[in-house]
Order: sequence, then structure tokens, then C-alpha cells
Amino acid sequence: MSREQLVVERARRAFQTGMSKPLKFRVHQLKNLHRFITERRKDIADAVKKDLNKTEHSTELFETLGLEGEIDVAVERLAEWAAPRPVEKSLLTILDEVYIQPEPLGVVLIIGAWNYPWAVTLQPLVAAIAAGNAAVVKPSEVSSHSAKVMEELLPLYLDKELYPVVCGGVSETQELLRQRFDHIFYTGNSTVGKLVMEAAARHLTPVTLELGGKSPCYIDKDVDLRVACRRITWGKFVNCGQTCIAPDYILCEPSIQNRVVEGIRQTLLEFYGPDPKSSPDYGRIINQRHFNHVMALLDGYTAALGGQSDSSQRYIAPTVVKDVPPHARLMQEEIFGPLLPIVTVSDIDDAIHFISEREKPLAIYVFSSNKKVIKRMLAETTSGGVTVNDVMMHYTLNSLPFGGVGQSGTGRYHGKHSFDQFSHHRACLVKSLGMERVNMPRYPPQNHQKARR
Ligand code: NAD
Repeated sequence: MSREQLVVERARRAFQTGMSKPLKFRVHQLKNLHRFITERRKDIADAVKKDLNKTEHSTELFETLGLEGEIDVAVERLAEWAAPRPVEKSLLTILDEVYIQPEPLGVVLIIGAWNYPWAVTLQPLVAAIAAGNAAVVKPSEVSSHSAKVMEELLPLYLDKELYPVVCGGVSETQELLRQRFDHIFYTGNSTVGKLVMEAAARHLTPVTLELGGKSPCYIDKDVDLRVACRRITWGKFVNCGQTCIAPDYILCEPSIQNRVVEGIRQTLLEFYGPDPKSSPDYGRIINQRHFNHVMALLDGYTAALGGQSDSSQRYIAPTVVKDVPPHARLMQEEIFGPLLPIVTVSDIDDAIHFISEREKPLAIYVFSSNKKVIKRMLAETTSGGVTVNDVMMHYTLNSLPFGGVGQSGTGRYHGKHSFDQFSHHRACLVKSLGMERVNMPRYPPQNHQKARR
């Protein structure tokens, strides 16, 4: 029996004892998870620094703060979320109890990605615990320092049988995927997403796939460009562009393209100084393989801004490329790095057409002061989420469901949406044994006389 098989079996046995179900137990585990984050803040920040060269402040802002918020909401609202929800009755069930009961799904598998190694791995875990499941946690091996800290320290805070951490790469993940789970929650690229879905199909296991793609950002000419460029520059270059909802490319009219480039240039200076390489706030590419991949996308282009790189440090300067043709390689796949192509469009119709003829993105951004433009972009495109006049901020609201659509993913989470994703919503009808006369018409023999009686 493989190690992975053993871990899953143990989690299932623990789940079957029913220990993960009482709300008091769930709250206790959630509070322990909170304590883990507070007490091990330094270990977490050190690991992320080694993995992605992020500052302690950035780790707090982009990883732990959201996690703590998510735990607080779950602890505060759990009793309400887990309570049976009475629903409308029919005439025939007027005296009965009719309600929806959220129930745990069982043993779930959470597969995390490396770009925000704590947020994308533990945020689903918060929900899995809140909904009363057992969960096998598989952090990404790519962010190896974070994975190691998670493996070593999390079991000191959470129940080891119910919430085991399994480290490993492709072969360990595939061995996990051969096991039977009641739900699989995967964050990562869509190629592996397909493998996850295939493996899940063998057991008819439902999946949540948090994938990526190319998220467009349309800048209308009727806008405060200084504000727009500052917000876009932040969202694109934070974590060195390795953010699933980063604006992947800009669409704008040719008449404002140079002003957009200038706005980004000024903002980069403001954020990272004249040499981003020496700025403590500018990250690095996760590994050499990904560095080579991102650099290859730039082949054959002259950068309007940036373009410098240093392979020994996995550094790529914040880079903007102008007048990128729609068929260029830069426009064929998610960039997931600090390269920002600008594609010019003739007007809003052209922009909408450009977006709509491509895969449904994880996010769309539109900057405009013109309500009609905003309204059209919202009405005539689709995406997992959308933020108007800013980037990425819809992610921070746990009242909004976060997830993709089509190729950018399936399923959603955050706040109550996470709880629902990790719960089975059981339809419950509890009838009384009285009033049998009301039931007579449905019993055989069926005849009109009887139906009328
Ligand atoms: P990754 O390389 O860390 O892979 C993700 C997970 O899949 C890892 O745990 C890894 O072990 C596992 N894995 C990799 N290859 C596998 C295989 N052949 N079989 C089974 N498991 C395998 O991360 P990544 O895929 O490079 O992550 C980047 C992508 O994730 C981007 O496309 C990004 O947009 C997306 N992403 C999406 C979200 C979201 O919330 N929608 C968040 C973060 C990242």
C-alpha cells in the first residue's frame, strides 16, 4: 500500500468516526488554524521569501490577511451556514418539515499551486474544515520552502488524521489522484486541470478547478489615465506577474497607447525606483524553467519599457510591449510573468469582439468614466469575475464568489461560497404519518372516482 493510499484511508476512517462533524469541533480546528498563522507568521514569511522573494509585508497582505479574514468569517457564521434552511412547501406538504441540510461531503483533496502557496492551499482548507470534511492537503512542490513548513508545522495545530499534509511532485499527486475522494479542489494550470478531471471521473468525484488564462484589461480613452495606470501597474507586476487574476494584456485605442506606456513608466518609478532589481518590493520568477518560458515569450519583440533580465537571479524587469499583433505568441497563452503586451483596438466594439472570440477569462478589467462603456463591457462579455476601474479587487470580497468559467475554471469559493462548495445540500422532507386521506389519490388503483373523493 502506498503512503498516499494509507493517508487517504486514515483520513476516511477518521471521517467515518463522525469526529469532524460537530460544530464545536470545526470551530476549534479553525481557531487552531488561526493560531498557526499568528504564531508561525515568521516561518511562513521566511518560506515565501525563499520561494518568491516576497517581503514579509507582502506575504501578510497577499497570503495571511485574507486567510485570517476567511477563518474569522467562518467561525462567526458557521452556525448559521450549517443550519437547516426551511424552504417553501406545497399544499401536500403543508404540515411537514421541508428543508435543505448542508452536510459534509466526506474526504476531500486540496491540490495547491505555488504562486500564492499559502492562500491558495489553506483557503480551501478553511472551507473544508468548516463544512465538516476530512481533507488531504497537497501543497505545490514548486514552492518547496512553503510546502516543507506546511508539512512540518500544520500537524502541530490541526488533527493529523483528518487533515494530513502530503508533499510531493507529479508522481505523488498522481498517486493521490488514483484514490477515491468525495471532492477534489485543484488550483493550477488548465493542462493539469484536465488530468485532475479525468482522474476524478474514474470515481465520479466532483471537482472544483481554479485555473487561469488571459485576463484582458480594457482602457477607455475617457478615463483618468494616471489612476488607471497606477492600479494596472500594481496588479500586473505584484508577485512578478505570477498572479492568476493579474491583467494579462491591455486593450486600448492607438491614440492613447503612448500615454498608457508613459503612465506605467511613471508608476514603476514611483513603486520600484529607477532599478526594480534592487527594490525589496519587486519579486522574482519562481524557478529557472518558468524564467526561460517567460523570456521565450518576449523573443523577437522590442520592449517599450523594461526588457532586462538576469537569469542568475531569475529577475525579469517590469516590461511593456507596444502594438502586439493578436496572433503573436505573447497573445496565445497566459503570460504569468511581468510582461504586459498592449494590443490596440479601434473602439469598444472592437475590444468586446476581441475578448468574446477568445476563451472565457478568469477576470476582465475595464477602466472608463463612461457609464455606457462600462455597461456594455459588463453586458456583452463574460468571465469568472470582473472589476471595473481597478484590478483584482473583486478577489478580496468574500461575499463575492471567486472562480472561473469555461476554460478558466469550474466551481467557486470564498466565504459562504466556499462552505457551499464543500457541502452536500441534502433535500429533506420529514412527513407526518397523519392525514393519509390527502395521499389517497396517488395510490393505485388509479381512477377518476377515487381522485374526486
Ligand atoms: P503547479 O506547478 O504548482 O501545479 C499545481 C499543482 O498541480 C501542484 O500541486 C502540482 O504538484 C500538481 N501537478 C503538476 N503537474 C501535475 C501532473 N502532471 N499530474 C498531477 N498533478 C500535477 O502550479 P501551476 O499549474 O504552474 O500554477 C500556475 C497556474 O495556476 C496559472 O495558470 C494560474 O493562473 C493558475 N492559478 C489559478 C488560481 C485561481 O485561483 N484560479 C490561483 C493560482 C494559480
